[in-house]
Amino acid sequence: MGNSLNCAAKDKLDGEFVASLADQALTGDVHQKDGSLRLQDQRLFRQLAYVNGKWCASEQGLDQAVTDPASEVVLGTVPALSDQQIQQAIDSAQSAFPAWKALMADERATILMRWHDLLLENKEDLALLIVREQGKTLAEARGEIEYGASFVRWFAQEAGRAYGETIPSHIPNARLATMREAIGVAALITPWNFPNAMITRKAAAALAIGCTVIVKPAGETPFSALALAELAERAGFPSGVFNVLTGEPEKVSGHLCRSDKVKALSFTGSTRVGRLLLQQSAETVKKCSMELGGNAPFIVLPDMDVEEAAAAAVDAKFQTSGQDCLAANRIFVPREKYEAFLVAFQVKMEALSVGNGLEDGVDLGPLIFERAVKKTQDIVDDAVAKGARLLAGDQSKAPGRNFFMPTLLADVTPDMKVYREENFGPVAGVLAYDKLEEVIPMANDTEYGLAAYVFGNNLKQIWTLIPALEFGMVSVNSVKMTGQPIPFGGMKQSGLGREGGLHGFDEFSETKYYCLGSLP
Ligand code: NAD
Repeated sequence: MGNSLNCAAKDKLDGEFVASLADQALTGDVHQKDGSLRLQDQRLFRQLAYVNGKWCASEQGLDQAVTDPASEVVLGTVPALSDQQIQQAIDSAQSAFPAWKALMADERATILMRWHDLLLENKEDLALLIVREQGKTLAEARGEIEYGASFVRWFAQEAGRAYGETIPSHIPNARLATMREAIGVAALITPWNFPNAMITRKAAAALAIGCTVIVKPAGETPFSALALAELAERAGFPSGVFNVLTGEPEKVSGHLCRSDKVKALSFTGSTRVGRLLLQQSAETVKKCSMELGGNAPFIVLPDMDVEEAAAAAVDAKFQTSGQDCLAANRIFVPREKYEAFLVAFQVKMEALSVGNGLEDGVDLGPLIFERAVKKTQDIVDDAVAKGARLLAGDQSKAPGRNFFMPTLLADVTPDMKVYREENFGPVAGVLAYDKLEEVIPMANDTEYGLAAYVFGNNLKQIWTLIPALEFGMVSVNSVKMTGQPIPFGGMKQSGLGREGGLHGFDEFSETKYYCLGSLP
């Protein structure tokens, strides 16, 4: 396989890594005033890619820096892998596939459950990694680790239930049935906004059914993925079953998409990149699942209490500083309650505190990078130029270059970017409506179809809205809608396929039909 060649730097780098540990006071103090990244278990902070059970440096000596968006301190580097190294990962995942697939489901489940337990045992360190490389608050990061681990538990339990079916025969004296078969090597390409859970939601399903996986995390947040690899190794996944590649996104993703040996692509990210990867995967007719962008409507019904509606809308808008595919982007409020809603929303929004996610009491961390701040400002400027009222959001109060203060725009109209585009920042756009019938086409007036929220009590209106909304997930009177047992996914250009729940195996398996005839 040539691993000894391309991973030759492993021993040297690991040696340096261990030596550097001796110099560090491993206090476990999450505040780390010098900005360095110190964990209780420093071996979870890996700065090498993970291929075929080995930690690999770049064979060309190329590294990419990873920056803490809050402090702007460089946390470390990860290698930019060469085409040869990417191919090596694909080859090793393919070599490992037959033996992994041949294990009893219970044997795979046992390893998955060990991985699950290790995730929870190391929750504080894994959460700290997320805060430092992604920027969200420690409370949100801890929640993400629990959420991420829940998929591993769910699919470990489901491994033994990947049933086929029997079919009443239309052929005389024959028996017809189906079985599910693991599809092969699966490429998992993931975004930076949930650096842990977007990996486990895919990997747990793929591994449980018998696939081997190659994870390509976002360049902004590779350390969470590499910590998952370290824990996968400790859990006992055989070499080649779980791999993590770092480097140039176009190069790594392109190579995975074009490879004939990679049989499934599971992508979470923007619709723009999703389209590109679909094109690149067409040549090898890969099984593709796509979890793409969202532009969620949040519909307040006429009988809804204004204070409760505003509290729920704030909750649905500002998690992960608005960098959430489920974030409430367009808030529709009955005209008679509109001004009262805006006041209630503003009061609650302005109570949110913005700062470094490590600090106690902070509700919103930074955006991922400065480009996101500029894009968010552009969305606000566009809305104001087209007549929106800017009710709150004084950016002069932002505590740093990558921060954006929560912003409230009223009188939003469909020609504004805040209405049209996925607004991946802490900007709430609100508009009034007169009749519920108007809201349905407006809510659906987007290329996206991931999630929608409805808040109110009138059952007739709720039952009208659920089937009328062109979204893969409709949440009524609950901000929380995700979790391991549900089919997560979108309609229209928000994606293809579903993750989690009973449907999670579909993206990583083939249905094989067999007919047992009887010769005369
Ligand atoms: P992104 O599309 O920029 O990146 C996603 C992944 O693709 C990353 O690993 C990135 O390195 C890689 N990538 C980026 N450009 C590439 C290119 N030109 N060629 C090949 N690979 C490339 O998305 P992001 O900014 O990391 O994440 C935010 C997006 O993810 C939002 O649109 C959000 O809605 C979406 N998202 C969707 C879900 C869901 O479940 N539907 C969940 C989380 C995030």
